[in-house]
Amino acid sequence: MFINGELVDAKSGKTIEVRNPSNGTVVDSVPRGSVDEVNAAVEAAAKAFPAWAAMPPTKRAQILHAAAEKMKAAVPELAKLLSQEQGKPLAHAVLEASRVQENLEYYAGLADKIRGDYVPLDDPAKFGLTIRRPIGVVAAITPWNFPLTLMANKICPALATGCTVVLKPASTTPLATQRAVEIINSAGLPPGVLNIVHGSGAEIGDALVSHPKVNKIAFTGQTETGKRIMKLAADNVTRITLELGGSDPMIVCEDADLRRASAATAIGRFFNAGQACLAVKRVYVFASVAEEFMTKIADRAKKEWKVGDGLAEGVKMGPLHTEHQRAEVEAQVADAVKKGAKILAGGTRPQGDEYSKGWFMDATVLSEVPDDSRMLTEEVFGPALPIVIVNDLDEAIAKANSSVYGLGSSIWTKDLAKARKAVEQIQAGYTWVNDIQVAYDQLPFGGSKQSGFGKEHGLEALDGYLEKKSVVLSAG
Ligand code: NDP
Repeated sequence: MFINGELVDAKSGKTIEVRNPSNGTVVDSVPRGSVDEVNAAVEAAAKAFPAWAAMPPTKRAQILHAAAEKMKAAVPELAKLLSQEQGKPLAHAVLEASRVQENLEYYAGLADKIRGDYVPLDDPAKFGLTIRRPIGVVAAITPWNFPLTLMANKICPALATGCTVVLKPASTTPLATQRAVEIINSAGLPPGVLNIVHGSGAEIGDALVSHPKVNKIAFTGQTETGKRIMKLAADNVTRITLELGGSDPMIVCEDADLRRASAATAIGRFFNAGQACLAVKRVYVFASVAEEFMTKIADRAKKEWKVGDGLAEGVKMGPLHTEHQRAEVEAQVADAVKKGAKILAGGTRPQGDEYSKGWFMDATVLSEVPDDSRMLTEEVFGPALPIVIVNDLDEAIAKANSSVYGLGSSIWTKDLAKARKAVEQIQAGYTWVNDIQVAYDQLPFGGSKQSGFGKEHGLEALDGYLEKKSVVLSAG
């Protein structure tokens, strides 16, 4: 772990083994922290907060720019670790590791541009101000699907505003995150500003979330975990941002560019073996183009998504992250088939010795998936795509909105009126029109409904780490 500027083992001496989901080999291990280490990290962050918050913002910006430079140099090292612990193809791990540097640069650029307002008041002898103050100690909790991206989404705006951080990554993907924290610290962060603890969420999560000196929780993970955190946060009225599950609908209209739409669907569904919060998880296609669209996406699934070890040449899709995760997706597919769905591609595990020790699954596409099947009512966190035929846009939007989730969404049409209606009526935090579901640093990102609340990315992410205070100044 890294607490108060030092590498720290667990007092208990216990460790957590991190295994490669492609072949089960042990990649490395990390200390298995306990409540003692959580308390030490929060105390360190609380102690470091006043000086970090008071540091001239240009100096904070300089440190974050320096951290970005160091992260750029570390991309190859971090990407390899990430691929081994998470399972994703190396090329995709490189993209993810590079995102940390980009995110650091973006918020380093904003660190010295945070400002309040001058507010004229009715009484000429007085005027008002608003000032923006960093919220304090942030507990940042991240999942295993994009460990580095989701770490960066939290720590970069937090550090830029003057907050201090205790980070807890997922127990199965702590390695690249640990190295990233060491590297960022080496750019000149004062001790205690950025700490990392390891340990099972079930064992140390409550202590971190409930700690009275934690002022803000930034959480990404399952909706069920988010609900528990929200309840615990209520005890101290701790601020929270929740980035939770999703089941993003895509609507394909009769005038869509089917070649581009099917390419975006395949990437949106099979990238990261389907283990992405923003991902195409349900397709609603107009009847007149359904057959052509389904043929195209099934062909892509069969031909373009080579499955294998993340470090092997030419692989586009790694294994599922855990045995449990694969079993869950397979059960959702089986449920759909039992209720009448047809498999157009995949639905199988790849065969051969090289696949025998990993949690691999082929890219899978299903049609005629009934509305009450698990694939449409739950989040499918794996490489399986349900397709539903619809008759018009109203039906498509109604079905798109039938989920408890509201994270991303997309529509493919050349008709501006249809696009506008979808943009206005789909209940989600993001809608892409004729484009692939890629998030941008410049645009706020976050969910509606049970996908959570609060924003990451954009200027808006800073708001989650700042509190606005009103001031009245009187001439006396
Ligand atoms: P989990 O909710 O299981 O875990 C997320 C993190 O929370 C892990 O670090 C975990 O630790 C920790 N945790 C578990 N229990 C507790 C607890 N009681 N208190 C505090 N922390 C706890 O999610 P997954 O790792 O399974 O991630 C997948 C989910 O994340 C999907 O639902 C996905 O949609 C969602 N997600 C949402 C995104 C968004 O921006 N909306 C982006 C990416 C993913 P440990 O690993 O030790 O259990």
